[in-house]
Amino acid sequence: MSRKEPELVTFGCRLNTYESEVMRTHAKNAGLEDAIIFNTCAVTKEAERQARQAIRRARRDHPKAKIIVTGCSAQIDPETYAGMEEVDQIIGNDLKLEAETWGATDHERVQINDIMSVKETASHLIDGVEGHARAFIQVQNGCDHRCTFCIIPYGRGNSRSVPIGEITDQVRKLVESGYNEIVFTGVDVTSYGSDLPGEPTLGQMIRRVLALVPELPRLRLSSLDPVEIDDDLWRLIAEEPRLMPHLHMSLQAGDDMVLKRMKRRHLREDAIAMCERAREYRPDMVFGADIIAGFPTETDEMFARTLDVVEECDLTFLHVFPYSEREGTPAAKMPQVPHEVRKARAAQLRALGEKQVQKFLKRHVGQKRQVIVEQNGIGRTEHFAEVQLDKNQRQGALADVMIKGIEGNRLTGKVL
Ligand code: SF4
Repeated sequence: MSRKEPELVTFGCRLNTYESEVMRTHAKNAGLEDAIIFNTCAVTKEAERQARQAIRRARRDHPKAKIIVTGCSAQIDPETYAGMEEVDQIIGNDLKLEAETWGATDHERVQINDIMSVKETASHLIDGVEGHARAFIQVQNGCDHRCTFCIIPYGRGNSRSVPIGEITDQVRKLVESGYNEIVFTGVDVTSYGSDLPGEPTLGQMIRRVLALVPELPRLRLSSLDPVEIDDDLWRLIAEEPRLMPHLHMSLQAGDDMVLKRMKRRHLREDAIAMCERAREYRPDMVFGADIIAGFPTETDEMFARTLDVVEECDLTFLHVFPYSEREGTPAAKMPQVPHEVRKARAAQLRALGEKQVQKFLKRHVGQKRQVIVEQNGIGRTEHFAEVQLDKNQRQGALADVMIKGIEGNRLTGKVL
């Protein structure tokens, strides 16, 4: 039985989710059939292992399908996928977004460009994000920083921004398709605009887009660098109700020596100051954070300061990563923390994260909240809390809900 539409298997971040939608459109328009496209991630060894495993399984289950591999892991390490007989084609991170790539019939098996030579973001308008009530759109790609643990710049190249006009067109198109919440995503979104004429800041871009698309009810931002929030963005945090009171911080650690060895731009006090300032403007502001457990040379005392900063900043949604050494990064050459210690510290952080979530959920009981409906009668509040609704609503709809209680890591609510 041949498969009509190409299947997308996406790993990793929201940027990959957005790009998979772009590839889906290009592949469909090119009439590609009976194909499975793997959009890989290289952030951890585990993400790469899962991709290889999924590729082998796909070949077993679909012997005739065309298997195409792209994404950061394919861009950084094409040889590994070229060495897999299951794989028919390997496409680089820039070429995957080009319509021509998908129309070409006589192509090399391996098509990888020097990603550092890519200067612009390729512009596409997606109609939506399949299966998602909230749409992720790319506003920036690549990164000019070189944190010592991070492989991403080698997969995505240097920082480049999507012009404001294209972002506005994309937001308008999604709002017209019925989306009530959009998430601006990228690799290092706080560096937005530094490569554009007039160097508009992230805050200036957001203000402009919200002014040009007054119909958009809710805007959410993906990961922010604690010390790179511009004045316009601070004003929006203080004044703009359509900007959701939920910020995700690329924190990584709470100890200054570790942060220095990571080559991060912020120190512990900067992260604390960011949270305090945001809560001065929006007392109900909730924070998420990316944190690495077991970075090379991290001692128990240093780790204790990471645990402590979670409470000091009152962080809620923790994305915890046991350190994963990436070949070619400076941190991989530093004295390593044993794997079992990394895992144990990650477990400690996750347990603390659970406690923080419970504390956060308690604050919502008895309150009225606006919820965006996702799947199976579950939705998300403005503060990103999950809510089990008492009755089903259309996916993507906004509903006013009275929060009744807590079940596990979720609120329960009555649709008003
Ligand atoms: S800011 Fe650092 S962690 Fe983030 S993508 Fe750039 S190099 Fe990686």
